[in-house]
Amino acid sequence: MFAFRASIIIRGGIKRGLATEATSFRIPLIDFSKFQAGSSSQDKKETAKEIVAAFKESGFIYLSNHGIASPVVQNAFSKSSEFFRLPAEVKDKLAWADPRSNRGYVQIGRERVTQATDAAEIAALRAKAPDCKETMEIGRDWDSVWPNQWPAEKDAPLFKSTMLGFFNDCHVLHTKVMRAIALGLELDELFFENKIDQQSHNLRLLSYPAIKRALLDGEGQARAGAHSDYGTLTLLFQDDVGGLEAKNPHTGQFVPAAPIPDTIVVNVGDLLSRWSNDVLRSTLHRVVAPPATPINSQEAITRERKSIAFFCNPNFTQEIKCLPNCGEAKYPAVSTEEYIVGRLAATYS
Ligand code: CA
Repeated sequence: MFAFRASIIIRGGIKRGLATEATSFRIPLIDFSKFQAGSSSQDKKETAKEIVAAFKESGFIYLSNHGIASPVVQNAFSKSSEFFRLPAEVKDKLAWADPRSNRGYVQIGRERVTQATDAAEIAALRAKAPDCKETMEIGRDWDSVWPNQWPAEKDAPLFKSTMLGFFNDCHVLHTKVMRAIALGLELDELFFENKIDQQSHNLRLLSYPAIKRALLDGEGQARAGAHSDYGTLTLLFQDDVGGLEAKNPHTGQFVPAAPIPDTIVVNVGDLLSRWSNDVLRSTLHRVVAPPATPINSQEAITRERKSIAFFCNPNFTQEIKCLPNCGEAKYPAVSTEEYIVGRLAATYS
């Protein structure tokens, strides 16, 4: 196990003199148990420094002993799979409709395709549709304006209660990792506390269906094209299929973030990067398809993949302006809501 873990420490840089520091790109595995309640302040500080160093360097870490028990994660995956197996007409009734809500079911590939009417055009679109996946988006359930789009209990037993529990577990973890970031930036440990406590997050269940390899083979094709995330942090739970890759900005190369059992991939989003005046890095990443298995002499099929992403945000009303200890502000202040809704509207328009 140790050798495997060590192998994920990737040096993308030229290993000579100072150049190594400037161009290294590591996705380290960080044991979060040393930051949990009861840890000594020295242990907490060390872990906080490790996390902030990695977020400055690559914007990505693996977190182990993060406090969300393995059976809890497995159960969320199994309820997610049950949901995606529901008939299309059941899922379509729960459709995502508005970026301010950002809740509900999204079948991106199908929406793109059905906007066209000409058969050849549909075929062309289908062949190059860059994001072949379906998702279910869930927000805080007590929002007075935007309700979640829950399936009926008889269609998806325990789906709602499972996802609400998981949402809360992820919220708690986000709060802890933000405490670590505060400490690592030499701020008060509770600096972010009242700025991130309203659960303005987005739980996204993702299903990438098994797909014929030829549909993914074109130039620039992937299960999810290169993008950065919008909020503070993303917590990514992946199955063993993998495919996530982060882009080393120094070399332009995509570096695999292979699944490691019982860890969460945590990456910095654009809003935290902006908040920190670019001290913490929001890194482009994508999902590529794994090697395909031949199904006949002409065609091969890739395995399906499931993942769960928890997109963490500050409170929607929070003003995001350059944090202390992060240099002279490069960006004007913006509210979380202005920023996130603007980005979502551009994505789905
Ligand atoms: Ca992402």
